[in-house]
Amino acid sequence: MLDNLKEKLEKGFLFRPNKNQLRDLERLIFEIIRRENCSLEGILNFLKDNSDSEKCSGRNKFFALKNSLIARRFPLTAAKEQLDTKRIFLNQIQKPLDSNYAVKADFKPSKILVEKEVKNSYLVKNFSRKFPDVRIEEINRYSDYLNTDRFHISKLKEPIVFLIKEKWDFLKPCPCTKVHLSCGYWVLNLGFGCPFDCSYCFLQCYANFPGIILPANIEDFFTEFDILEKKLKKPIRIGTGEFCDSLALDEITEYSTKLIPYFKDKNVFFELKTKSNKTKNLLKITPAKNIVISWSLNPQSIIESEEIATASLTERLLAAKELQQKGYNLAFHFDPIFYSDGWQQIYRQTVCNLYSYLTPPFAWISLGTLRSHRRLKSINELRFPKSNIFYGELFIGEDKKLRYPSFLRRKIYENMVEWIKGYDKQSPVYLCMENKDMWSILKKNTSMEIEKYLLKI
Ligand code: SF4
Repeated sequence: MLDNLKEKLEKGFLFRPNKNQLRDLERLIFEIIRRENCSLEGILNFLKDNSDSEKCSGRNKFFALKNSLIARRFPLTAAKEQLDTKRIFLNQIQKPLDSNYAVKADFKPSKILVEKEVKNSYLVKNFSRKFPDVRIEEINRYSDYLNTDRFHISKLKEPIVFLIKEKWDFLKPCPCTKVHLSCGYWVLNLGFGCPFDCSYCFLQCYANFPGIILPANIEDFFTEFDILEKKLKKPIRIGTGEFCDSLALDEITEYSTKLIPYFKDKNVFFELKTKSNKTKNLLKITPAKNIVISWSLNPQSIIESEEIATASLTERLLAAKELQQKGYNLAFHFDPIFYSDGWQQIYRQTVCNLYSYLTPPFAWISLGTLRSHRRLKSINELRFPKSNIFYGELFIGEDKKLRYPSFLRRKIYENMVEWIKGYDKQSPVYLCMENKDMWSILKKNTSMEIEKYLLKI
């Protein structure tokens, strides 16, 4: 795409970029081509007509070219405010992986590795019953596997299942993100890894092994919670969906059949969050008011391009409807929301879809715009060469994550809140990982206020 860019710059602009300068210009041109579907020649002509490079020499010529490219790459922000170039992340262009394990809608493990300590657990029996032809191997610790097989990101989604005894990481407050208002959520760590493959999934940055880790000693989580419960002075919200999808494998793990009966009598709101429609077990359990089943929602076009192997929007809403009829308390998460030219139309339609299938009020509705570790941009380019999510107007934020600028996030939240309130004035709407300024949309100033608002206390 950018063949001979260096020579073209030398010839057309009498400028010989050094390695770093070339990398910045290449990255900007590459992203403009991805955003606008235009040609390199077109961009070079644009630079001739619009940059002041002819009047400059040396380093100034580079800055003249770079600034013109930045203004074209970030048109909405450039029109609105002075661009801070230090907040623009220009990483090296990544060549897509030659091979990348493609997930399938129907999950089947390639092998099952079981830690010796849990070899007699119900979870091992469930997996061997469901997949009688899949090899089960005993191991001492799942981490030993890393010594035998070096991890490469292309293997991330290989469907290896590790059934383990979790010893340390049971329950913790959600870390939220620096300088943002926390909503007081707690996370129960029910495994790491997911059979789905979302292009924006932050797990891609942290995984150093393929597949999915599942704890087989769920009763130890309850012992741990019994200790915490004695110290709690007020109800808390707990969820399991931080490092996994809460229900994607529930028909095999049957976690819900243990978690719901345990938490239904506790002074907590317990949430299972999913992008699946695996609700068979839930339909067999008597619901309770403090048990919340929630779905992440996005427009169908985004589900198809960015949320690989997940249930469609209609499947999610139909599954939710069935649970609502059964008496379950529901919640929804519009997260991450992506900004694009036609975003208003597709997100407004998705809000409309939600209320055409389901009856409010809901336990809560969260809103969160795309935010990500910078490393994820490179991983996304390696693993999802067709994805365009990182070519939106994203800048390095106060928490060092890539985010849309404040004015765009505000516009998105204000619109979403207005559309939701048009159908439903009762369900509490909250923002995920946002700062005080953004929270002013919902007239909340402190984490304490947010917690009370969500717990309705
Ligand atoms: S459903 Fe959640 S955990 Fe699974 S791939 Fe998507 S973002 Fe990651």
